Amino acid sequence: MTHEERRDPIEARVLEHLGRLRLTATREALPALLMEAARKKWTYLDFIDQLTRREVESRQDKRVRMGMTIAHFPMVRTLEGFDFAAQPSVDERLVRELATGSFVAHGTNVLLFGAPGLGKTHLAIGLGRRVVELGHTVLFTTATGLLSVLSKAESEGRLEEKLINSIKPRLLIVDELGYLPFERRAAHLFFQLVNRRYERGSMLITTNQRVSDWGAMFGDEVLATAILDRLLHHSETLMITGESYRLREKRRSGDWRQLFFPAGDNYFSRTHQLISIKP
Ligand code: ADP
Ligand code: MG
Repeated sequence: MTHEERRDPIEARVLEHLGRLRLTATREALPALLMEAARKKWTYLDFIDQLTRREVESRQDKRVRMGMTIAHFPMVRTLEGFDFAAQPSVDERLVRELATGSFVAHGTNVLLFGAPGLGKTHLAIGLGRRVVELGHTVLFTTATGLLSVLSKAESEGRLEEKLINSIKPRLLIVDELGYLPFERRAAHLFFQLVNRRYERGSMLITTNQRVSDWGAMFGDEVLATAILDRLLHHSETLMITGESYRLREKRRSGDWRQLFFPAGDNYFSRTHQLISIKP
């Protein structure tokens, strides 16, 4: 029996065993890798290196994809897609530091302050995605969404269960804090959540309200101080100032006309008329 004749049943058996061991990526890669190994005269170690690498990479990809689904990001935004030059108030060095994920390992909170349109949600998603890629669990929610889940749970007598669940993700992102003012009960629920996560897991919060306005936002100065105390104890803060990125893009793309010639004012026909005037 030649080597070729012997190979097929062995290969078939190996493929079957890989399937039973649930090494699916290895199973898929095996036939091509066997040929490549023969062609390039790989050592045994080279071969096993290539084979295990496929399996590890494929599992990592799968884990990241699952992590992204669990995180519930509302859209795709990446740190690579963030134009730091357009927003000089953003501390790029700090963002890069946060992107290493060490803040999650230390349970540090991140607070992103700024007016609407300055890129807070973009940065929150970008950092969140990075944290997922690093292998941690992330959950993205808006303040409104979070509070409605908590108050529903409370009315159903399941608040404790929800609060216990809330400490499960390594990073909890709460977007748009302060876009809507808090009712008394909601403010207290938010305090309970922050208290639960305090020194247990990082939160990343975006808000358009300055710290000095948090008393009014929560409708209670004492509660606002208690919340801030816990959030700021181990925290990094990013303040974004400047002009809205959307508005800036609009002006750049030529739509600046809209700022000077409101809708209804037919700029083009007027231009046309002006140009067509002849002596
Ligand atoms: P905010 O949450 O502060 O209101 P967003 O993050 O929603 O602002 O930003 C508004 C839009 O502008 C989004 O589509 C976002 O991707 C984009 N954007 C804002 N800032 C930047 C930036 N510096 N580079 C690239 N895109 C940006
Ligand atoms: Mg936003």
